Amino acid sequence: MREIRLRAMAKINLGLDVLGKREDGYHDLRMIMQTVSLFDRITLRMTKASGIRIQTNLGFLPADASNLAVRAAQLLFDEFSLEGGLFIDLEKHIPVAAGLAGGSSDAAAVLFGVNELFGLKLTREQLMERGLKLGADVPFCVLRGTALAEGVGEILTSTRPMPPCHILLAKPPVHVSTKFVFGNLRADEILTHPDIDGQLKALEDGDLKALADKMENVLEAVTVPAYPVIRELKAKMMEGGAIGAMMSGSGPTVFGLFDDERAARAVCDKIRQEGSCRQVYLAAPYQPQAWQT
Ligand code: ATP
Repeated sequence: MREIRLRAMAKINLGLDVLGKREDGYHDLRMIMQTVSLFDRITLRMTKASGIRIQTNLGFLPADASNLAVRAAQLLFDEFSLEGGLFIDLEKHIPVAAGLAGGSSDAAAVLFGVNELFGLKLTREQLMERGLKLGADVPFCVLRGTALAEGVGEILTSTRPMPPCHILLAKPPVHVSTKFVFGNLRADEILTHPDIDGQLKALEDGDLKALADKMENVLEAVTVPAYPVIRELKAKMMEGGAIGAMMSGSGPTVFGLFDDERAARAVCDKIRQEGSCRQVYLAAPYQPQAWQT
């Protein structure tokens, strides 16, 4: 095998709590993570010539050693002194810098793919350990599914899968830096914390309504005042019949959960037609399936 085609899937946070700031500057988090069916397509091809090259369909993405997909490949090439080279074709569909872990998911898929192509025989846990060197979200993107994430996001406990539903994702055209969000969060001033334990119980019970009712993201305290479009999108989704709507990660993507597909489609069309938000997608919770396409 000299080539492998992969799906790198986006994630959303169904709940996001910040427990406090650590001495190393990172924050201790407690989150429910969910893989969704929106994905980037990645093709990896072994080459005789050495070096890792990447081509992407987005002109503004780095196409050099700073791209997370390249960094993931480089990590395994260095560790195992792999011979020859690699060509990465990255077709982005996940909005960039959106709170959907697109880059982390690309890195996770490349770790998986290089492991397969070069017969490295690393286990999933071993890939997750290496992923953490690339970013806090990468281990979850290797694991996929539904999980409780603690620490900086790397302590993962899989849960029962999220009940079936329709997930509307809308990325408003604003740039929100993760650094800005965490830099402006006063962790010691968070008075009410999301009911993450209640969400775990809802997942255990397969209760979508209870899960949605408890959706909360403490980072909205920073982003909503700065970017009112986030509140507006949440309101539009709730008015259109969502059973819950929330910002994913550090934003700015807003997602809504719907039990009725027609309602989800209607809100999707409405947001698209209004024209203020062009990156709008209908997705579903992750179904276990092979990485390869
Ligand atoms: P998270 O939810 O983990 O915070 P995100 O969705 O906010 O992630 P990404 O889409 O992963 O953010 O991109 C963040 C930054 O990383 C971008 O500014 C981009 O230039 C850079 N980057 C490097 N490699 C990639 C990649 N393969 N895909 C997307 N962005 C990448």
